[in-house]
Amino acid sequence: MPIEMAPREQKAKPDRTVDELIEDHTHAADALGHRIVTTFDDALKDKIRVQPQMHLRASSFGHPCDRKLYHDIVDWKKVMPFGLQAHRNFERGNYGERYVIGKLREFGFIVVGEQRDWYDESLNLSGRIEGHIVESISGAEILVEIKSSAGYFLKKITGLSDEELAQTSHSERIARLRETVYGENYYVQVQIYLYLFNKYAAMLLIHDLGLGRVVPITIPFDWEFAHSMIDRAERINCAIALKVPPPYIEKASVCKQCRHFKRSCFPSITSGNAKILTDPELHQKMVRHAEVKPAAQEASKLEREIKADVRDAGELVAVGDFLVTNTTRQRKSVVIPPERKSEFTQLVDYVTTKWERSNDRT
Ligand code: SF4
Repeated sequence: MPIEMAPREQKAKPDRTVDELIEDHTHAADALGHRIVTTFDDALKDKIRVQPQMHLRASSFGHPCDRKLYHDIVDWKKVMPFGLQAHRNFERGNYGERYVIGKLREFGFIVVGEQRDWYDESLNLSGRIEGHIVESISGAEILVEIKSSAGYFLKKITGLSDEELAQTSHSERIARLRETVYGENYYVQVQIYLYLFNKYAAMLLIHDLGLGRVVPITIPFDWEFAHSMIDRAERINCAIALKVPPPYIEKASVCKQCRHFKRSCFPSITSGNAKILTDPELHQKMVRHAEVKPAAQEASKLEREIKADVRDAGELVAVGDFLVTNTTRQRKSVVIPPERKSEFTQLVDYVTTKWERSNDRT
């Protein structure tokens, strides 16, 4: 049966030229894009405010500094609120958790006891359990904690291919997890849950946003470790009651990332255990170096770019009032056949020297 075509509507001749219409619609799309971004961001900006913190939180208990956990409670008013990007990350994490739980249900897994807030009065410690998945064969309710990773923070795990992951045992996964700051936090959080809720194993389910997959990490209960965290909570609570902050961590890299650095906490990380040199000439050289370094970096970047631009232009090149010469020279080079390289290889000690000014640490 022949298909009858609907009569094509005759387009009215536009009263604007095609170029004008492209321009109009491009402006409209730009304006729309701008409105979408500001609407998304404004919704989150409303959430940017300092939140009171009255008790310890399992989710941040993996931080290595006791003093930081003390200041979290005693000096919460002095911290800067989390910025826009942090709130975007929180939003992404919340969305990721809902997505994974929804998919688990859709595929027939039994998820129970979702999003349960808890508070342990004796430890002044709080948290939120994401849920339990009922394992179908044994019937065991496995505590599950879902985290999203955009790739960078858990690279030690998310950097592995599916094949590499399949070959890693849960202890290897845990070791990799704990090498990262976030991973250690997750590990501590899960161990606290296992301790307080009398569970024997949990599953950390990483929603790997980069590769669009989920990566499970089985975490068996480690009584000694979990108990040491409970002792720690008691120690910090005691410090809070006495208003005596725990010792400084004395690790500059941790302090520089800390929300209390130079707000409530002023560790002397400028010298630490360093041997102090008082040579004024040396100090003057370092001051001068700091002054000229930005110009020197720019000069060497320009030099590299200029050389790349003129190197193939011939032996003699004029650029404005500059005359450039490209000279080909020869130098002797020793070539060792790859199979004999090991005969000429040895381990040698070398020293790298870096410095930074203490007042650059903000
Ligand atoms: S600044 Fe350093 S010592 Fe002070 S609370 Fe933060 S991490 Fe701990």
